[in-house]
Amino acid sequence: MTHPTGWGLIGASNVAREWIIDAIRAQPGGEVRAVLSSDVGRGAAFAQANDIACHTTSLQDLLSRPDIDAVYISTGNRLHFEQAIAAARAGKHVMCEKPLALSVEDASEMVRICNHAGVVLGTNHHLRNAATHMAIHGLIEDGRIGGLIAARVFHANFLAAALQGWRVNEQDGGVLLDSTIHDIDTLRFLFDENPVSAFAMTQSGRLARDGIADGIMAILRFPGDVLVQIHGGYTTPFSPGGIEIMGERGIIIGRDCMSQRPIGTVSVRDADGEREIALKHHNLYHRAFGLFTSAIHGDGRPAASGEDGVASLAIALALRESALTGREIGINVP
Ligand code: NDP
Repeated sequence: MTHPTGWGLIGASNVAREWIIDAIRAQPGGEVRAVLSSDVGRGAAFAQANDIACHTTSLQDLLSRPDIDAVYISTGNRLHFEQAIAAARAGKHVMCEKPLALSVEDASEMVRICNHAGVVLGTNHHLRNAATHMAIHGLIEDGRIGGLIAARVFHANFLAAALQGWRVNEQDGGVLLDSTIHDIDTLRFLFDENPVSAFAMTQSGRLARDGIADGIMAILRFPGDVLVQIHGGYTTPFSPGGIEIMGERGIIIGRDCMSQRPIGTVSVRDADGEREIALKHHNLYHRAFGLFTSAIHGDGRPAASGEDGVASLAIALALRESALTGREIGINVP
């Protein structure tokens, strides 16, 4: 069924330009009606380049428009909280970029206010929409490799020059809240559980300013004594992205699957050898915005909800605390 859905973009960002405008327009009835930028010239240029009728520097202007049903927030991480709260109070549904906020308290407050306002809150954790991860989830659920023992995630690459801004210079940047948080969300999706404790070491100074992590080695302990290792980073060119999940009877191998693009393969290796699983790839963001659009029209829930955003942030912040203190940190997901 076609649902006309008017969107406002909060943030004239790279991710909106590269992926999200297309994902909104791919939904039947999905229209981008206005964009908010803090800079009038950047907003005007962004609107013109992306065929958006209106631009504004006023959040209140954007939120007071009756033709906007939902907002997509992709500003700098420190702004998500106040913009999401304002949008919810104006009765707009909110698809927010990760991290939802910079503290678990603020992220939980976003969930509470959105629930109270009766609007849907989604977190744009795209990877759980990938055909690869959906297939891996199915294989684990079907018991294809038996009880889980351990996993490894490889999600380190080289940060493109065009992206070497806030990610490597500002305190709300760094690889942990930028990309490792996606790995955390993906693991929560694959295992249908939250980890119980976290340990991490970070590195800094190759691309990022000292004190901002441009590399991380993390360990999460999941229930049942399942250990997961994650390598994330901005500084290692040519590294493949992938995931391996080891069970009592075999291994699931996901290759090139930690990507925004609909690529990658999934194989199972066990006593019968290695077999590739047939996949039908689709655009990850199209699926995320399709599920979100259905949810705001009363059908189903977003791929990653506000609660998912809170949980993945809580785990990421436990890893940060571990890196700062050198201790294994117990995780309490609210
Ligand atoms: P950008 O740096 O492109 O945009 C973030 C903000 O920076 C914009 O809102 C914009 O402010 C400002 N900005 C953009 N260009 C300039 C410029 N030339 N000079 C000064 N300021 C500028 O960030 P990203 O698109 O990479 O990330 C935005 C958010 O999306 C982050 O929260 C990030 O974590 C998330 N993200 C999520 C991804 C996913 O796949 N889920 C992928 C990439 C990012 P203004 O709006 O005021 O113009």
